[in-house]
Amino acid sequence: MDLDRLSLFLLLPLELRQRVYSHLLSPHPQDVTTINYQLSWPYLQNPDSLTFTPYQLDMCGCPKQKKDHIYTRYVCQEPEVQFASKQDPLWILHELWGLFNILRPASQRELERRPSAHLIHVNKQIYRESIPVLYRGRNFRLLSGPCPRGRYQAYATQKWLARLSPLARSHVTDLGLICQIYEEDCVESDAIQSYNSLSHYILRNLLHFEKLHLLRLPRYSAVQPFSELFQKKGVTIVVTSGRPNGEMSEFYESKDFLRNCTEPPAGDISQSRRLLRELRVESEDIESTLEETLSLRE
Ligand SMILES: [Zn+2]
Repeated sequence: MDLDRLSLFLLLPLELRQRVYSHLLSPHPQDVTTINYQLSWPYLQNPDSLTFTPYQLDMCGCPKQKKDHIYTRYVCQEPEVQFASKQDPLWILHELWGLFNILRPASQRELERRPSAHLIHVNKQIYRESIPVLYRGRNFRLLSGPCPRGRYQAYATQKWLARLSPLARSHVTDLGLICQIYEEDCVESDAIQSYNSLSHYILRNLLHFEKLHLLRLPRYSAVQPFSELFQKKGVTIVVTSGRPNGEMSEFYESKDFLRNCTEPPAGDISQSRRLLRELRVESEDIESTLEETLSLRE
């Protein structure tokens, strides 16, 4: 934007400038804004081995413990997180698949829908006015490929939030997490600790936080610490079953959310009933075929 245009733009009433920001920066309601990251483990002996065991068996040389020890989260030095830049290819979640989620490259349309940051950096006034529009209602999801001991997704989310300017951070209203075993850590107690840490970080730093979107496979109860978020007035937790066309439930209070964490989702029960019905039909078919075969023999 040259100086003449900038002066003209700043002469417009704030309401009109807000409409420009909204047109250029507001998120599409259905979009998830994916941010790719990679973990690096500078002190591990075999940082690339995909062990995925609950014991995290790799030798670590970090200065937090005496030499030659086995890596232990929350005792050892944690991994470094590298966030992909705008020039890097963008990978989107296609399907949950436990250890190895299926990712795909972003489509041209998805790439075009990503907001351009040029405008917000034109000057300080525009930055202050436009940041809330850019961040409000945008569902951010941190996403990575396979990692040796879980993807440390909540940890990476917290690191990413900490890198934002205080103004930007305070206007993050929505965050998305994939919740299944190995997503955060292969040790469930460490996943719980990490979710607890993220919840408290949100309560302390995200002044306008409104919604946590959990993509969750059934019977993954480690998400319980997120019930702390209901301490903040107006918070909603949206849980979507991690299956194709999965059911979505919204929670507004801790009690209901915690009940959902421990009970299998309704879809699970109806699916089991359908399976049972099909099995019964199948066994009736087998019986009648058997009867027919026997009567033919007779
Ligand atoms: Zn260590």
